[in-house]
Amino acid sequence: MVGENVRRLLAELPAGVELVVVAKGREPHQVLEAVEAGVRIVGENYVQEAERAFAVVGDRVKWHFIGRLQKNKVRKAVKVFDMIETLDSLEMAGEINRKCGEIGKVMPVLVEVNSGREGAKSGVFPEQVEDLVQSVSNLANIKVMGLMTMGPRTGDPEESRPYFMETRRVMDRLKALKLPNADLEYLSMGMSNSYRVAIEEGANLVRIGRKIFEGE
Ligand SMILES: *Cc1c(COP(=O)(O)O)cnc(C)c1O
Repeated sequence: MVGENVRRLLAELPAGVELVVVAKGREPHQVLEAVEAGVRIVGENYVQEAERAFAVVGDRVKWHFIGRLQKNKVRKAVKVFDMIETLDSLEMAGEINRKCGEIGKVMPVLVEVNSGREGAKSGVFPEQVEDLVQSVSNLANIKVMGLMTMGPRTGDPEESRPYFMETRRVMDRLKALKLPNADLEYLSMGMSNSYRVAIEEGANLVRIGRKIFEGE
């Protein structure tokens, strides 16, 4: 079932849109099944879970961190992940930069946008993104490659559209700045229920879990 769901999704996604299979709460063998069906990027919310899946799947795919990063997990995270999609503070950027410096790695990151301006949510408000990207672009071992957003949890995917639109506008403004050490290639938006709307609004990374592992 997992393999079939992956193949159906891959056939549906337009050219230039990449699938991130979200593996949170899944067993390594389930992740492997998705990978064997043609997945190229796996998203993980937890460092330890990623290490377990990595032990089975290995480096034949790219690993994206999509959870809330804790400072004491950064050393492990920078080893296993190829991209951190949820950067939302200069303090965390400094820590990632330091730990990457120790192992001679440059970490691609996406800045997470709190597009719904929700109090308890991670991410920076749209109007703060530019400042953070400017500061982070001075760090030698981090490369900003775009933006990620979740948006408020909704039942109807149409309700997510304004938040995707807003994130896209922030991206366009950033691109216009032509920052020297940023390569603004990726807009990561949309999950199982909302990826079609997200793609219409410019997403080129979609993060999908349930639709693949539960067929929803
Ligand atoms: C769980 C999760 C997803 C995937 O959600 P589904 O509804 O399972 O597709 C995407 N992005 C993040 C950050 C998540 O935590």
